[in-house]
Amino acid sequence: MELKFIGTGSGKASLKRYHSSFLINSGNYNLLVDAGDGISRALMNQKILFNIIDGVLISHLHPDHYTGLPGLIVQMKMTERENPLYIFCHESCSRFIKELIHQSYLFEDKLGFKINVESFDNGKESKVFEGLSFTAKQNTHLQKNIKSDKSGRLTFSCSSFLFKIGEKNIFFTGDIGNQKDLYLFQDIKIDWMISEITHISVDELVDAFRRINPQKLFITHLSEEDETKVSKLSYQLPTKERHNVVAAFDGLSVKIAIP
Ligand SMILES: [Zn+2]
Repeated sequence: MELKFIGTGSGKASLKRYHSSFLINSGNYNLLVDAGDGISRALMNQKILFNIIDGVLISHLHPDHYTGLPGLIVQMKMTERENPLYIFCHESCSRFIKELIHQSYLFEDKLGFKINVESFDNGKESKVFEGLSFTAKQNTHLQKNIKSDKSGRLTFSCSSFLFKIGEKNIFFTGDIGNQKDLYLFQDIKIDWMISEITHISVDELVDAFRRINPQKLFITHLSEEDETKVSKLSYQLPTKERHNVVAAFDGLSVKIAIP
């Protein structure tokens, strides 16, 4: 079982990092978490075949997290996919995702495989496959946009996730709005934590790392400015902690040891 970072960049396009995305391989299921602009090329860059992906989980509807989806489905068709593709998104986004696929002329009878859009609800555990499930919680990342949506048509759902892989709990912050979002799963024992760094300070993240106390913290969603922030981190932390805090990079792969 493995966690592989496909992209570790922020919303800002970069020649060094693709937009934030990772792949969870739970042994017999591959779940891609987020599929922003350029995801197909990012996967090719990591030599990951499109059709090993069983499901795609979308955390929210910012372009660096979902706009690569139609293009990825096209690549799957062109590489003769047969297995159904599962797309997991919050229930408030599922109509839009289905429409996006339809408006991209991706019809099931032409694709040759089924697309199942499975919506999840906050706070309820969603089973993905044997030995792999997740629970989403709403965070504040999109709240600042509510006033701008004069027509009231948009969803402001943005999720943080707790993945359960075998007996391991992996907390993924997703894109967040403030420091409080780091504690959405504070009652649960976290084994690993994957956090973004663009929308919080290094001090806030270090604080959360100490309070949540995971074995490992992986930092992702890094712009160039964030890289500078994070590089200072290694001087601030005592050696023991430093080993357990990892600035992720595209292609970083870590084995998940399940007892
Ligand atoms: Zn983002």
